[in-house]
Amino acid sequence: MTMASSKESPLATALSQLRRAIDQLKLSENDWNTLSTPRRILEVAVPLRRDDGRVEMYKGYRVQYSTTRGPSKGGVRFHQDIDLDETVALAMLMTWKCALANLPYGGAKGGVAVNPKTLSMTENERLTRRYTSEILPIIGPERDIPAPDVGTDERNMAWMMDTYSVNAGFSVPGVVTGKPIVLGGSLGRTSATGDGVAISVREALKIKGINPHGATVAIQGFGKVGYWAAVALENMGLKVVAVSDVNGGVTGFKSVADIHKHLLENGTVVGAPGTEKITNTELLHLPVDVLVPAALADAITESTANGIRAKIVVEGANAPTTPGGDAIMNEEGILVVPDILANSGGVIVSYFEWVQDKQNYFWSADEVKENLNSILMRAINEVSENASSKRVTWREAANMIGVGRVAEAHRLRGLYP
Ligand code: NAD
Repeated sequence: MTMASSKESPLATALSQLRRAIDQLKLSENDWNTLSTPRRILEVAVPLRRDDGRVEMYKGYRVQYSTTRGPSKGGVRFHQDIDLDETVALAMLMTWKCALANLPYGGAKGGVAVNPKTLSMTENERLTRRYTSEILPIIGPERDIPAPDVGTDERNMAWMMDTYSVNAGFSVPGVVTGKPIVLGGSLGRTSATGDGVAISVREALKIKGINPHGATVAIQGFGKVGYWAAVALENMGLKVVAVSDVNGGVTGFKSVADIHKHLLENGTVVGAPGTEKITNTELLHLPVDVLVPAALADAITESTANGIRAKIVVEGANAPTTPGGDAIMNEEGILVVPDILANSGGVIVSYFEWVQDKQNYFWSADEVKENLNSILMRAINEVSENASSKRVTWREAANMIGVGRVAEAHRLRGLYP
């Protein structure tokens, strides 16, 4: 799936970053062989009876990239362009992300190649339930714990939890995270990824010596991540000057609440009264302090990176930057907070949700926020210190920590038999 015309393979990008981390850590070829191979891949056919009686077939996937440090963990994406290659890449990123945050998880990803906007609510429910039952043998609170991603939300998680529980014969809330609160979801999960993006922006601004009050930010993608990041950043005193969705971007709105209201009423941010329309590429090139790509992969490429004028790029999306785009931003001295750090707030609070479900004891919103801040701050400080001491980029430092932890766990567990 790409947003630019120059399609780059997300798996090739992820593997090249892994190769670099292995080389920088001076790990062995055995480590490379082990870490560059996904542990388990399941491809399923998902039949759907449409409301008009037609039966259609969709491809579904679940990739468990690693289970070395604990059960695998990762989102479920409903998007027409997903394929196995991208799902493996995203599952690999989840592995390093969980290790970087020091969560007791491996990494996974899954999804169905469908455009959810073409489904009625009842069709979406049937598709979600059938996908869940197809991957049921390999998921579970001790095995692999799905969560929402692009095109899915807490409603899908409720159906997944119910389908799994009906088959188990009792309620199993810990099988998915990102559930509604009444089903064992966690306070603060909905906004967690955006909150983590905002914490990352706050720390990057400190490093660059920029006052958050009045600093400007442009956000590409105004979904679960982009919207909540916008809310948190506005609360921190930044000025959100542009947002976008798949239909294009806008500038000139008064507040995040105003543009969100327009989105809820019209299904897009485009066309809000008093705003000016821009393209998604123009948004990337605005003269802002901070740029947050929070849509899909490959937004910042060799062809789009050149015009970026932001001093800080905080990756809300997974894999929004290609190696070519990354090289240009590094040459320009832009501080890039990489995806596996910047958007890890979601999986951190998913971890809290899983812990709460296991204990049947639920935390206050303040406890969630405090714990999110402390886990993310520990990871940010580690990455920042490693980047300075080893003279590498934040992306390289983050990958070295994540990959290094998984490699160490492999070594300590040993090879069976
Ligand atoms: P979402 O479906 O809620 O929102 C996606 C947004 O991107 C929407 O505004 C959509 O219109 C926009 N978009 C889609 N295609 C686009 C295009 N071609 N150009 C511009 N905008 C486009 O998804 P989300 O959960 O907000 O996820 C966004 C990104 O963040 C993804 O890369 C996802 O993997 C990543 N992520 C999500 C979470 C989470 O907790 N939801 C956690 C970590 C990372």
